[in-house]
Amino acid sequence: MAPNISKIGKEIKPSATLSLKEEIRTLGKESGFKIINLTVGEPDTGPTEDVLEALLEGGKLHKYGPVQGDPELREILSGVINKEIGVRYDPQDIAITVGAKGGLDILMRVLLEPGETVGIMTPFWVTYPESVKIAQGIPCFLESDGGLRPNPEKLRREIENKNIKVLLYSSPCNPSGVVYSRDELEEIAKIVKEKDVWIISDEIYAKFIFDGRRHASILSIEGMRDNAILVDGPAKRFGVPGWRVGYVAGPREVIKALTKLQGHVNSGASRPAQYAMRVAYTSQKAKEATDDMRQRYERNRNIFVKGLNEIDGINCIKPEGAFYAFPSIDNFFGAKYEFAGKEYIIKTSVDFRNFLLRKAQVAGVEGAPFGMDGYIRFSLATEEENIVNALNYINHEMKELHI
Ligand code: PMP
Repeated sequence: MAPNISKIGKEIKPSATLSLKEEIRTLGKESGFKIINLTVGEPDTGPTEDVLEALLEGGKLHKYGPVQGDPELREILSGVINKEIGVRYDPQDIAITVGAKGGLDILMRVLLEPGETVGIMTPFWVTYPESVKIAQGIPCFLESDGGLRPNPEKLRREIENKNIKVLLYSSPCNPSGVVYSRDELEEIAKIVKEKDVWIISDEIYAKFIFDGRRHASILSIEGMRDNAILVDGPAKRFGVPGWRVGYVAGPREVIKALTKLQGHVNSGASRPAQYAMRVAYTSQKAKEATDDMRQRYERNRNIFVKGLNEIDGINCIKPEGAFYAFPSIDNFFGAKYEFAGKEYIIKTSVDFRNFLLRKAQVAGVEGAPFGMDGYIRFSLATEEENIVNALNYINHEMKELHI
């Protein structure tokens, strides 16, 4: 018999999106189905040639680097934040982390005492509650309104009732594609100031905003400098999630503490990848590639969301950003279908996801790990052909569902 592992080691949930990827691969292999995979949370294209070349050249940086991150990259990011968000963050107030995820993890440990509460706007990215639990905090889920938008009134009440210390959200939102407007952010900022809580703004999809709208960040609202913390990274905008680079910008005390912890947790992000990011954030080619992705994902959104809403019983808000569609599917709870001689009843979003996988050979991610069981998430970061085909297959199979 082996000794026990920890409670958190036993109870932590595997990343739903990453483990589903594996499941789909196995199902595809075993059944020979050609599955249209709309589960992935990453761009379908990679970095531009100049960025790739810089990665190779960066291989020369084989020794440990500064824990807080490459000073030249932090200087560049300070300029990026200034230009894109409209506020000045000194390079000292920025730390490069092992992905945005790695930044979030260490940030939670810096902000929380065991048992303290983090208010997470619903729906949320699957990792948020788990990263709170890893830091021994308690996740508390804040309901959105009917349009999946933030609800300031409820927010104010919940902060009081649940004694919330930190608020956390992504805008553009994974999974809903909702982009918080400047007015909404100002409302939230007022509450943040009034209650004096931390607010973490995950803006990793900021380069994917549609319909000509501009990104608004809570960091640029007056009075937020002491409370707001930005989490961001190059993974989505340059198509480099595998390179594991992200960054956090915020009050100096937070960045200093985060850097101290990072020195023991991982010694900082990969140096070659950081070197390549210097090129990515300044390259015209990389900028054009990002614009190109945005345009394609916007086109995919137009086709897919319109098509979904034409199916009886499915309702999908129009995502304003990111690259996901998040329709509600709870009208189909109770429906029955047959597969391989067996009858199945759809009772949850996992059942609905399995129905689509088995019958339409289209893979999405169930809404439950995003905090909304009546929904399913589809990624639109793929070829238009996949979007059109997926829509046809879904449409065809939905007609066969017996409610
Ligand atoms: N934040 C959100 C909202 C995300 O969707 C993701 C990736 N799916 C991340 C952060 C993680 O980014 P990274 O790969 O830089 O860790």
